[in-house]
Amino acid sequence: MEAIVILKPKEIQLVEREVPEPGPGEVLIKVMASGICGTDIHIFNGEYLGAYPVIPGHEFSGVIVSIGSQINRFKVGDHVAVEPNIACDNCIHCLNNRQNFCLNWQALGVTLPGGMEQYVTAPEKAVFSIGNLPFEQGAFVEPLSCVVHGIERARLRLADRVAILGAGPIGNLLLQMVRLQGVSQVSVLETNPGRAELARQMGTDHVFTRMEDLPLNTYDVVIDATGVLSVMNRAIDFVRPGGTVLLFGVPPSGKNLEMEAFKIFQKGLTLLSSFTSVRNSFQAVNLLQSGQIKVKPLISHYLPLKELPQAIEMIERHDPNVKKVIILPNG
Ligand SMILES: [Zn+2]
Ligand SMILES: [Zn+2]
Repeated sequence: MEAIVILKPKEIQLVEREVPEPGPGEVLIKVMASGICGTDIHIFNGEYLGAYPVIPGHEFSGVIVSIGSQINRFKVGDHVAVEPNIACDNCIHCLNNRQNFCLNWQALGVTLPGGMEQYVTAPEKAVFSIGNLPFEQGAFVEPLSCVVHGIERARLRLADRVAILGAGPIGNLLLQMVRLQGVSQVSVLETNPGRAELARQMGTDHVFTRMEDLPLNTYDVVIDATGVLSVMNRAIDFVRPGGTVLLFGVPPSGKNLEMEAFKIFQKGLTLLSSFTSVRNSFQAVNLLQSGQIKVKPLISHYLPLKELPQAIEMIERHDPNVKKVIILPNG
């Protein structure tokens, strides 16, 4: 079978690899749709956790083609999505329901082979049935799980006014999720015209294309979905006194924010971050199956596996026509 391997930062290659065998408690998945995420770009650039070489791809869905021993919930032919973070379930964090901070954390596509290959094994506990949800939508179960977790952390109140900085695929999912919370107003900051237009279509009240135009001291909740330090630094300016800032976008590792500490103190702000998800996959599947969250408009490209390196280049160029890119490892 074919797989894409990141050998080391900035070095990526299509390779031939044996189809893996599912061990006890594992299933083998034929990968049908695998989303490219900003995290994959960070891994490609050497800015994220994980060890090299690695087969990237942590947002994917597919069909179960064989099962190991001791499998209870699945049979061959089931359509599934994967929750890529694998917790040990036996460390102090796991035992306190903080599996995202597992001391023995592993993740498909980060430390273990991920979905940018034709077949991948996954432990049964990381696999969720998607029924007849189309595969390309199943590839959004993971990012949507993270969004559900982040929005639950932000504890929005009815009629809140919310600003979302950045309307890439994640910003757009955040926008839709926020919309379901009974807020009175959602503003989006997005400089890319294609993404700004999509945010408008998906129910944004105000789209700002320049950061200077965003009103100061206004929003009950400001959510950064860029992970860009210069934007994150400004989030505390747009939130009202006593409000909440949620830092959601993945920033590059090893870099510091520059925020005025006195401003945070004087405004009495709540600063939150959100790391991956904690048991949010069923929620994500329900939201997609019910159509409450719409992901088809977020997809701009469907590409074969061998074009992943070019797709990464295209995303890094910030082409206005690029939204979510879905790789189809099995055509
Ligand atoms: Zn992701
Ligand atoms: Zn653990």
